[in-house]
Amino acid sequence: MSRVNTVLGPVAAEELGVVAVHEHIGYGMPGSELDSRWWKTPEERYEETVPKLRRFHEHGRPYGGGTFVDATGICNGRDVDYYRSLSTKTGVHIVACTGFVGGDTALPFFSRASVEYLADQFVHEITVGIGGTGARAGVIKVGVSRGGRMTDLDKRIYRAAARAALSTGVPVLTHLAIDAENAIAIFREEALPLDRVLFGHADDGVNAAKTRDTWIAEQGGRVGFDTFGYETELDDPPFWARPRKERLEHFLRFVERHPGSALASADANCSPLGWPGVKGHTVNYIFEDLMPDLRAAGVDEATITRLFVDDPADFLSIHD
Ligand SMILES: [Zn+2]
Repeated sequence: MSRVNTVLGPVAAEELGVVAVHEHIGYGMPGSELDSRWWKTPEERYEETVPKLRRFHEHGRPYGGGTFVDATGICNGRDVDYYRSLSTKTGVHIVACTGFVGGDTALPFFSRASVEYLADQFVHEITVGIGGTGARAGVIKVGVSRGGRMTDLDKRIYRAAARAALSTGVPVLTHLAIDAENAIAIFREEALPLDRVLFGHADDGVNAAKTRDTWIAEQGGRVGFDTFGYETELDDPPFWARPRKERLEHFLRFVERHPGSALASADANCSPLGWPGVKGHTVNYIFEDLMPDLRAAGVDEATITRLFVDDPADFLSIHD
């Protein structure tokens, strides 16, 4: 039976329900915990987060559940004991990641690490656990540093992730799908099948035009339309926002041409760390806005189930 590592232990892939494949319980830049203007008490964090996850759980009921993949890297506020408590309280399956959002968010302790060191660290977090929590990571996060080209450290992290993915069977999630030629070259050199990689943020307002989504799909990679809801229609849209209709049409075109290659998510923050976050945007955009938009565009229920239940379950399943 295929299974997925969640923070409360392995779960059968058939029990995941609707999967939000790229989300954040709380994301912050390394060091944001040192800025006292943004400190939150544990109670404040729970108060902001629990209602969103409970709602997600309710929405997921008709689909047999809900799974929240936390794509927060090692230095960006990942807090696994807290995730375990949230999962217990709300019933939402939470998948934690190992890895880094990008080389530029890896703190100095990690920034000179070798591929071997990084791969060992990732494998340990996937097979033994994250610290003393007993929770095993279910995905590996990698990413492209600011500037648009992979740095040497980004490349070491991608190579280490490929090795850890091959030896453990968990998949890789990327922050940004730009500079995909370099990423795919590394994955090929390491012989990681490209359907084990979700190339993320192909749909945001800054990167959509720079991302070769069709080419990535033709190489066998999966493409993440995972910033749904960051739209110019928000009261105070972030710089990576995009008009709602434009993103939706992009997604629909892609799904029609490359069935099985796309995964969708909202990249929302339940309780942002060190920044105010984007008001009015939550993981529940998937149920409350995206699914209705897809239905209105003529997408049938079988396709919706495939997009949000079956394809992500296949992606997240540990390949032994
Ligand atoms: Zn993210």
